[in-house]
Amino acid sequence: MKTGSLIFFVALSCGAIWTMKRIATSFASASVSTALAAPKAAAPKVTASQGAAPVTTNPVVSPATSWDFKWKPAKGEVAPTVEVSPLKYGKTWAYSVEIDDGPASTLSVVAPLLEGFSFTDAPPGIAGGKARPFVGGAAIFLLRFDTGNSTLLSADDAKKLRERGWGMLNHSYWHSGVHWDRALSNKPADWRRELFWSQSLWPALLGEGRAATHLVYPNGDPGYRDYTAEFGLQSASRVGGSSPRRADDKAVWLDLDRNYLDEGAWAKENNALSGLPDSPKAGDFIIDFTHGIDAPGSVNFQRWQTRLEHIAGKWGAQGDDSLWCAPTDAVVNYARAAKAARVSAKAGGVHVDFPPDLPGSALTLHLKGLAPSAKLVAPQGGNLFRSGDEAWITTPTLGQVGAKPPAKLKCVFRGPLGDVKLDAPHKIAGIRVLQSGDTGKDWKLSLQLIGKNGETTELVRPEKATLGAQWGSWLLFPAMPDREAITAQEIHAPTNRALSQMEVWALDE
Ligand SMILES: [Zn+2]
Repeated sequence: MKTGSLIFFVALSCGAIWTMKRIATSFASASVSTALAAPKAAAPKVTASQGAAPVTTNPVVSPATSWDFKWKPAKGEVAPTVEVSPLKYGKTWAYSVEIDDGPASTLSVVAPLLEGFSFTDAPPGIAGGKARPFVGGAAIFLLRFDTGNSTLLSADDAKKLRERGWGMLNHSYWHSGVHWDRALSNKPADWRRELFWSQSLWPALLGEGRAATHLVYPNGDPGYRDYTAEFGLQSASRVGGSSPRRADDKAVWLDLDRNYLDEGAWAKENNALSGLPDSPKAGDFIIDFTHGIDAPGSVNFQRWQTRLEHIAGKWGAQGDDSLWCAPTDAVVNYARAAKAARVSAKAGGVHVDFPPDLPGSALTLHLKGLAPSAKLVAPQGGNLFRSGDEAWITTPTLGQVGAKPPAKLKCVFRGPLGDVKLDAPHKIAGIRVLQSGDTGKDWKLSLQLIGKNGETTELVRPEKATLGAQWGSWLLFPAMPDREAITAQEIHAPTNRALSQMEVWALDE
């Protein structure tokens, strides 16, 4: 593109906007309903923009979700007792792995390694469960996500991880925060900008239509903590967190502690089982953390293998099967919903009210005192195990998965950096520029938004204009949340060989 030429572009979708199609189905023995009456008409497809909602015929997402499970009551049958199991599948303790900063090896090395180990979806001691692979959570900061740098995760990689049961954990946009030096520490506006942008872009880039619920503190900076609630984050983790290693009322959800297993420190300690309890107690929650696992055959890989063999052999499918392995956010969201959900039982049925203010989750119900003749059928999207007068029923996902983003943004332009005329005036929240290479020593970036009457706003602050060299960074030049979105239809920008792409993000109103 020649500098100075005005190109007319129709708005294109930006980033990886995954469409998750879910076709609503009717339930034989269970039904999901929302607070708003569900239309009886043919079930519409639920798309990503509506979030990973439970299967429902209601296209309007309502957070208040209830669930009913029924069976034909036997003559004279009395109501069983019902409670929500503290952990999914009736497991007694939970285990998570967090991989920091989104290395490509999360998909190529870590996922296949974890998948060599399994637990089952049955309660401990109950036969017939389906094997489930160990999975982890990828802590991603968006500056370095999907940049074309092959050492880091692409959008396609992240999609594959999700499909294999992994969680995507918010690790901020810029990865800023130097909490050990007061002079360099983030200011409140910096923490808010980080969380505003990572949470607002999350639905389009990573979140299947919703923002993240778990934050991995960048550089372990707990200064983010005071701003988590404002941006929909329910939990956060770091090495040295103050929380007891629990997934119950004792947990400090915004300061979860982790085992630090980067190779340097771990090799010195030379204990493959570092930070693992000898015999986990009911409600324990262990999080392992590393920046990556080295290639198969390496000392680091072998140490991980020893650790995982121990965990799976003692507490997984080959052991007492007491363990639930899931991404951190899934464990937290389950544990909190389990505590807050209201359940009741009568002869021939149980009823669940899912807490409307919490992120969605499946729930495992534990019934006792069932009549031997009561025939229970596993709910669609869940499972059921029976032993004598007891049953464990895992529901499909209830409530609305993920968090509401702080702003609803849409990408109104994606293409080469340069002068651009948008299809219409838009309220521009910020512009991203993809850098791969050296812009040159004296070269300066400028992003000028031209308003209706020709008024010009420069988005690039002078101290940020000189870029130097970077190999794979989605540089972000924000207006929001420090100021209002800026209404403009034209953007003036110089070109540079190292800056291949520009994305214009505007309020979607
Ligand atoms: Zn990090």
